[in-house]
Amino acid sequence: MAWTERHRLMLQEMGIRLWAPVTEPALPAAQAEAPEPVPPKVATPLQAPVQASTPDERRAAIAEMPWPALREAVAQCTACSLCQSRRQTVFGVGHPGAHWMIVGEAPGEQEDLKGVPFVGAAGHLLDNMLRALKLTREEAPPERQVYIANTLKCRPPRNRNPEPEELARCEPFLVRQIELIRPRLILAMGRFAVHSLLRSSEPIGKLRGRVHRYQGVPLVVTYHPAYLLRNLADKSRAWDDLCLAAQTVEAASAPRD
Ligand code: SF4
Repeated sequence: MAWTERHRLMLQEMGIRLWAPVTEPALPAAQAEAPEPVPPKVATPLQAPVQASTPDERRAAIAEMPWPALREAVAQCTACSLCQSRRQTVFGVGHPGAHWMIVGEAPGEQEDLKGVPFVGAAGHLLDNMLRALKLTREEAPPERQVYIANTLKCRPPRNRNPEPEELARCEPFLVRQIELIRPRLILAMGRFAVHSLLRSSEPIGKLRGRVHRYQGVPLVVTYHPAYLLRNLADKSRAWDDLCLAAQTVEAASAPRD
């Protein structure tokens, strides 16, 4: 992609390394005409990594990124220790103008392998839940194709719970994804997604069943599909949550008088 000077500076501020071909200096005319073979151009770092700016500066830089810069920033991120154990980052998938945004917790082993959120048994259950609402993660118009992202973009080792510091470091990426998508509804799945977005430590059972707001976007809380696989009794509650979410999107999409 073509990086603007502004994007380069923002990424540089965040300690992210860009690679670009070296621009060779102009030769004097006599040398330029010499018949010596020209060595092939090689890629070298445009900038050495710059050590961390303040958290506020980092957050401000991320808050201005368009999609390509944001994706690159996540892929290169070393802002918390999870970068040392991940195989790859898990950015998110779906329609960039989706009406529905699904926010999960952190990548697991399969997500870390494939670079895609919600795969494996939990992902299969999520796909079935979406299908029941005539939604999909496959290519479709924005009212049908959801966008799926996690609160953390890198897998915690052995699927341990995320640390508060890790959630805080990663949060600006999710905030920017939500700003770029501007969904009509956020469906927050699981304790860490819910607690991060709502800044609440209440159990999901107490937060579900009503519509919250996140940066002005309606937000509905429900259980994580991995939890539902182990707690079948809560599936009917999750279905109630999906129905509440569908009603909320429908109301937000209704033409106004
Ligand atoms: Fe960066 Fe988030 Fe991965 Fe930590 S979890 S390294 S903040 S992308």
